Amino acid sequence: MNRYWSDIVKSLTPYVPGEQPRLEKLVKLNTNESPYPPSPKVLEAIIGVSADALRRYPDPESTELRQAIAAQNRVEPAQVFVGNGSDEVIALAFLALLKQPLPLYFPDVSYSFYPVWAQLFGIECRTVPVAQDFSIDPDAYPEQNGGIIIPNPNAPTGMLMSLASIRRLLQRSADSVVVIDEAYIDFGGESAVGLIGEFDNLLVVQTLSKSRALAGLRVGYAMGNVGLIEALGRVKNSFNSYPLDAIAQCAAVAAIGDADHFQRSCQRVIASREALCSRMASLGFQVLPSGANFIFATHPRYPARQLFTALRERSIVVRHFDKPRIDNFLRISIGTDQDIAALLDALAELVG
Ligand SMILES: *Cc1c(COP(=O)(O)O)cnc(C)c1O
Repeated sequence: MNRYWSDIVKSLTPYVPGEQPRLEKLVKLNTNESPYPPSPKVLEAIIGVSADALRRYPDPESTELRQAIAAQNRVEPAQVFVGNGSDEVIALAFLALLKQPLPLYFPDVSYSFYPVWAQLFGIECRTVPVAQDFSIDPDAYPEQNGGIIIPNPNAPTGMLMSLASIRRLLQRSADSVVVIDEAYIDFGGESAVGLIGEFDNLLVVQTLSKSRALAGLRVGYAMGNVGLIEALGRVKNSFNSYPLDAIAQCAAVAAIGDADHFQRSCQRVIASREALCSRMASLGFQVLPSGANFIFATHPRYPARQLFTALRERSIVVRHFDKPRIDNFLRISIGTDQDIAALLDALAELVG
């Protein structure tokens, strides 16, 4: 506390990102980064950025990038908004679309940034409990609401919601915006982007951070009806006209263009995930069905906190959330084969 702080700063409880420890030989399985490098075309594009492109302000509309995203997702460029990571895109959506007289709803077990943005922007929010098996029931959400935001697959459970369930949610919630946060959709899920022509209240948010291995570049985007996209643009242009720098714009275009590299790395992550799930199960863990690049697991006899600490002592970092309903789970990002082997060796020693 400092006497110069504004009231809002005094009241904030900021989001705490997974740690980025600077230890050597660390097995880092805590922030769902890709274990594989981004497309080599991305590095070529970055090296090719001219001095002139850096001297000038970047394209405030990210025209080329929006065209690339639109073409890939079979929507119009006017239906695409880009931002400095999907965290920024979602934050702008909170202010532009989800701040309404009625409260905003999201699952009780979900992305822990949502309540932080709600607090920052003064948005009243309510959580809806996920089922005992951590699945999400669209009928559990009230038809009258100020907005709904759900990650699909959910974080940190990794569980997928079917497109039929999302459609049901949209049909029931016709008077407010439904945001589907698809940070992990490329690891086996089906995107809701195909529904935006049918539902003018649907905003689908994706990111290059996970499946495109570009968490360091900070590029995310939203797709939806032009009216929703216009709202995001109005807030963006009232805050920072240039959220994406020139390097990020051309690197992101190169990443979107390399479909082969993208598909190969997603397939590798999915194959490793399935192998890890079965090995964990044979060690006695219960692993939730995952459609993401991480798994969420609990052991009936060994408390998650104890396992988290023991793994950390062996330089293996996973994520543990000290929160109701999930405090006995570990969230483990899918790493390289070598990372996974190290993790399984340590777990075999700890629970074997
Ligand atoms: C990682 C993540 C994001 C944010 O990704 P950016 O790096 O900001 O694009 C958004 N939502 C969920 C659920 C995530 O896990």
